[in-house]
Amino acid sequence: MKFVCDHMLGTLAKWLRLLGFDVIYPGPVADSEIRDVAAQEDRMVITRDKELASTTKVRALYVESDVLEEQVKFVLSELDLKVTEPMSRCSLCNSVVDRVDKSSVEGKVPEGVFDRQEDFWFCSECEKYYWQGSHWEKIAKTIQELDMS
Ligand SMILES: [Zn+2]
Repeated sequence: MKFVCDHMLGTLAKWLRLLGFDVIYPGPVADSEIRDVAAQEDRMVITRDKELASTTKVRALYVESDVLEEQVKFVLSELDLKVTEPMSRCSLCNSVVDRVDKSSVEGKVPEGVFDRQEDFWFCSECEKYYWQGSHWEKIAKTIQELDMS
């Protein structure tokens, strides 16, 4: 399942990418453009706009909460999604990232991060490194709670 998030859900879009889902985030564009891209690319619309959710011809999910953890929980539980490939996409550009050896990131990430983390990923589009930092731990906890409930 692929998604398009409306412009009010930029942070959610980023996090769904980090959880491994294919999400585009066109920013502040007209509703019609969101509908079009959803139809063309077979993407489900995730939106905080009730009107957009109800008027789109493709499937849409209306998200009420403006709290990130609740949004993530809601989307995963509502659509019964399982996180099977975490850290597989770049949060900035939605490209698939590559797992890289710890030895290759020395000097390229902050020293404290290098010391604490064992797993690293790299987006060759953005030339950005990823690791599972404190934000990740917060989201991982949210997902665990979901699995237990
Ligand atoms: Zn990227």
